[in-house]
Amino acid sequence: MKNETVLKIAIQKSGRLSDDSIHLLKECGIYLRNVKDRLRTVSENFPIEVFFLRDDDIPEYVEDGVADLGIVGQNVLAEKNRQIDTIEALGFGKCRLSIALPKNQSYHGPSSLDGKRIATSYPTIVGDFLKKNNVKATIHEISGSVEIAPGIGLSDVIVDLVSSGGTLFMNGLQEAEVILDSQAVLVARKQLSAEQQEIVEKLLFRIRAVKKAKKSKYILMNAPNEKLSAIISLLPGMRSPTVLPLAESGWSSVHSVLSEDEFWDRIEKLKEAGAEGILVVPIEKMIL
Ligand code: ATP
Ligand code: ZN
Repeated sequence: MKNETVLKIAIQKSGRLSDDSIHLLKECGIYLRNVKDRLRTVSENFPIEVFFLRDDDIPEYVEDGVADLGIVGQNVLAEKNRQIDTIEALGFGKCRLSIALPKNQSYHGPSSLDGKRIATSYPTIVGDFLKKNNVKATIHEISGSVEIAPGIGLSDVIVDLVSSGGTLFMNGLQEAEVILDSQAVLVARKQLSAEQQEIVEKLLFRIRAVKKAKKSKYILMNAPNEKLSAIISLLPGMRSPTVLPLAESGWSSVHSVLSEDEFWDRIEKLKEAGAEGILVVPIEKMIL
């Protein structure tokens, strides 16, 4: 019997998470037609239907079961506090929710906020932070352009999302303390059916393969045979490196996989150990 179950996933319609969310699905081999100017679309080759929504609404839609899955920032999840499960961190949409204040003012920890007016789009997170630190301050909830609040006299301090810090700088503000680190995550409704869970597992398997591949590089190099054992000892590989004879006798080609964190360090050591003609290529998917 054909499996007719279709999983509904909510992603941001237009904003900082939209392109990365669509790109992730694409890298997972899930094709979507006409992703622009649509409210929903069904994939032709994977049992998934995509809803395009405002990011703030995604936790609620997932909790209510309008969508089964969602891609949303941890900042939004923390603010909305809905009964849903976070199932995987996705590695994009990275930012932090920070306290910022005018450059000429000093900050000595949360107590510096005592009696201050704080402008933010995150009243719940900020309220919890103040309570936890035993600080009394007034929260002004505003929905956008928070960074101009001190300049126009609406607040003394702001709590807003920061990635590079450029926006703060341009508005004469300095970042004083990080309240929350955030990235996009995959969230799921509670109590998915067994069939739905099966599709989620399939999707997760693909997402993990894509994530893993991004962190790894495939490297190929030539080496004289007498130096092979020194070179091989520097390579982790999925099992062990592949070693193939070159047309020139006494030489071999060595292939392996390196993770990004150790990459430069290993390349230098490989050169020192006698590797030549080192080629580095990206990996698209990695199934372990
Ligand atoms: P929507 O119309 O969907 O409500 P929005 O204006 O609330 O959009 P965006 O600015 O597109 O939201 O940001 C969406 C998410 O992207 C944020 O909630 C956050 O998780 C993430 N993000 C990453 N970097 C930043 C940044 N520098 N500033 C704001 N958000 C960021
Ligand atoms: Zn939003």
